Amino acid sequence: MSAWRYRQVVLLRSDLVLLLFLAEGCGTPTASAGQSQYASAYLEQLQRDARDRLPSGALPRSMRVSLECTTVDAERRNREIIEEMQQKYNLSPETVERLSRTAQARREALGTIKLPTHFEACDLYEVLSYYTRQVRETARAIMKSTNASAPEWPLFGTLNSGRVNAQKIPVPNTEPEESIVVFDSGLFAFLNKMSRLMVKAAPVMSGNSFSVEQQAVRESVASDDDLQINFVQLLRGYLFAGTVDNVPSNTFLFDTYGQDAISTALYRVNLEFAVAHEYGHLLEESTEFMSSITVAEAFTLDPSFRRLHPESRADVLAAIIVAEAEESKGWNAAALLANIEFYFHCYELLEKARSVVLLGNETATFDPTYPSAAQRRSTLRHYMHRRWTEGKGVPEANWREATRASDEFGGVMTVLWNTAQPILYNAHQNGRRLSGIWIH
Ligand SMILES: [Zn+2]
Repeated sequence: MSAWRYRQVVLLRSDLVLLLFLAEGCGTPTASAGQSQYASAYLEQLQRDARDRLPSGALPRSMRVSLECTTVDAERRNREIIEEMQQKYNLSPETVERLSRTAQARREALGTIKLPTHFEACDLYEVLSYYTRQVRETARAIMKSTNASAPEWPLFGTLNSGRVNAQKIPVPNTEPEESIVVFDSGLFAFLNKMSRLMVKAAPVMSGNSFSVEQQAVRESVASDDDLQINFVQLLRGYLFAGTVDNVPSNTFLFDTYGQDAISTALYRVNLEFAVAHEYGHLLEESTEFMSSITVAEAFTLDPSFRRLHPESRADVLAAIIVAEAEESKGWNAAALLANIEFYFHCYELLEKARSVVLLGNETATFDPTYPSAAQRRSTLRHYMHRRWTEGKGVPEANWREATRASDEFGGVMTVLWNTAQPILYNAHQNGRRLSGIWIH
């Protein structure tokens, strides 16, 4: 049994399709309440420096949109996108109506967004704002029965840093010390396009399900030159130019609306996980949180949690928050685990690719003090197993289905990796240099 049906995901999450496209209409930059001008000035400085390091032609699209976003006619663009989708996917009038309503609601929400700096990627920032809110509210709900309070977010924004994980950066000359959280904007664009490639690599069986059986995937990838080219372009773009905008979005269009919806849901959960991971650090760094065994148990059900590497602690807390938030919207354990682990498969792909180009082997992690993506994935799985089976009473058979689905995702990534591997080893032998964002 290797076909994994996403029907439930598709039916529940199809609204998300639009969220990728609705970019324009942000307001003027302002510091958020409770954050000093120093923090936003410092973030703006980091973003300006990052922009100046990129060749002008490689300026990320998100940044260009940000500079123009108050003048672009968002309504017209959204209408065009919906019309294009209607024609391409032959959508019913009800679906078109629903998409239009979603577009309208989001356009209104965008009008109220306050960007933290002039260089912020406004489309991404809007989605990040949505998830930072959702993540904190979910954490607060989990902690409700305890005395500990959910930490506030510091100022956050995006930066093309190549650090894959977001970072918490202290703001110089602030007393008491302030910090900002920066998410790697390149990673989100990469995850978005990888989600689409992932769905493309798996042959469609019917509208809402596709096969991830290894032989079928291998054949599908081998027979699809465009897919291989797009994958290699994507990887090379991120590694050597520091941006994946060189791969045009229209190369990622699908045959069916179902595929589109699945890939969007996949991307969104990954984005949410990245946000929740950063919030996980705020939690695990909070003495109040960590000294309260009740709170720690409310999250993890396992005292060994305290002995984990901080990265894994943040992963576990993040996965629990994402699961709490998304389960209430109808996601099942199999879909959630596979989606969250897909984040680590992408992370591992970048980790290996960077290592091959730099060193000619696949073993280096981004930071020598960090566990590898594979280690983090396996630690996380152990804790999610406990949460679902002991904590939530999910039958062992459902858990096995979840791990199988996730392993199948990993298998698809292996097939893709095998197509790019020789090119990256060649790049190493020819002395090809990585983009500066990867050298820390
Ligand atoms: Zn981290």
